[in-house]
Amino acid sequence: LQEKLRAQAISDPLTGLYNRRHFEEMLDTSLNTAKSEQSYVSLLMLDLDHFKRFNDNFGHDAGDYVLKEVSSLLMNTIDDDDVACRLGGVELAVIALGRDAEAGTVLAQQICNLISGLHLELKGLSLGKVTVSIGVSTFPDSQVDRSNLVKIADVALYKAKDTGRNRVIHYNEVRQLASLKSEPELDSDDSNQSSTVRVLANK
Ligand code: C2E
Repeated sequence: LQEKLRAQAISDPLTGLYNRRHFEEMLDTSLNTAKSEQSYVSLLMLDLDHFKRFNDNFGHDAGDYVLKEVSSLLMNTIDDDDVACRLGGVELAVIALGRDAEAGTVLAQQICNLISGLHLELKGLSLGKVTVSIGVSTFPDSQVDRSNLVKIADVALYKAKDTGRNRVIHYNEVRQLASLKSEPELDSDDSNQSSTVRVLANK
């Protein structure tokens, strides 16, 4: 019984993923382990795209069904030691152990592709396509304080949303862009700057 109560206390009832409280704990534990073993942790912050519109079109039950499908895809895609959480609403997170920036980005891209390839159907009705935007940060190679890891993954997530959604952006790319922008003006045309964003975002 105690085991059952503990499982309930750390998981999200709709999706079965871990909840936000457990996420905070697991992130601390994972970062401590990475530090002592000189290993990496990549943090993936996911947000389903235009989900309000999805609910408006197909109803809340269909929305819940999709959230559950996406969550089980997530659990089936990550490694056994990784941690998948629902932080609230349609915001999900993965703590990917031992993955440097490149490996973290590869995992995120794999998840992004799998979600956009889902054929969703409920009671014989096709629900069309659902996509996700993902921001990634990595300890220690994002060169920021570890307490900022969530914040910078969020910055990358917003950049992914800003540059068209259904894509993955690692914070390192955002930083790279910021340093490009702070260099002396190479080109004063704003439209060219946004195409630079697109090129990097599509990498
Ligand atoms: P929405 O209901 O209009 O919520 C928009 C945003 O407001 C949410 O973005 C979230 O950031 C914030 N928000 C809404 N309710 C709360 C709350 O109780 N507490 C806090 N702290 N923030 C809140 P998010 O999470 O990206 O959700 C986007 C849309 O996805 C929502 O629009 C809603 O239409 C849908 N959605 C969210 N959760 C669920 C769910 O459990 N089931 C279904 N079917 N749809 C959901």
